[in-house]
Amino acid sequence: MKKQTILALAIATIIVAASADPAMAYVLLSPRRTWASTPVNVPVYSAGNNSINDGSGGVNAVVNAIKTWGVVNSSVTNQAAVQGQAPATITLNSNGHICNGSCLAATLTGYYSGNTINDADVYTNTKYKYYSSGEADGCSSEYDIEGIMVHEVGHVIGIGHSNVSGATMYPSVAACNAGNRSLEADDIAAKNDLY
Ligand SMILES: [Zn+2]
Repeated sequence: MKKQTILALAIATIIVAASADPAMAYVLLSPRRTWASTPVNVPVYSAGNNSINDGSGGVNAVVNAIKTWGVVNSSVTNQAAVQGQAPATITLNSNGHICNGSCLAATLTGYYSGNTINDADVYTNTKYKYYSSGEADGCSSEYDIEGIMVHEVGHVIGIGHSNVSGATMYPSVAACNAGNRSLEADDIAAKNDLY
């Protein structure tokens, strides 16, 4: 089964290599940074992904899924993302000209000043097919949009890639694997470190 990379596009940011210490397996974005206050508002643009047949193109499913972080609020928005300007907005129907290769989705993590995140928009590579928990026909060589977006929202709130296989912040996922919808201990430790 083909694995695709979930890429965090780091503008003016180098994501440091994962630590070898298993107790510190998660990696925070460098420099360490957080939003000024929580909950972080991460709306989902109403134009959904046309490969997802759940009635909203995955929009409603993603709105609900990303709240699993606990420090994130979400809703459907008709306002397209404005790069560099909050709120951090998830776009399911466009790669934003930033995710053309093997990546499934990407987050613009370069918008911060000092240790405060100002914006972090998320785009989706539309060359792949996706599914959500709301699809009646299940999964066939598609990628789980909810898990992917829970991963990307980890980047939105300041977390990098973990080397723990099975963690939501691990950098790749196989088709029809919905495991990223739920946070693992490593993901929660990263979030609790920041917020
Ligand atoms: Zn990533």
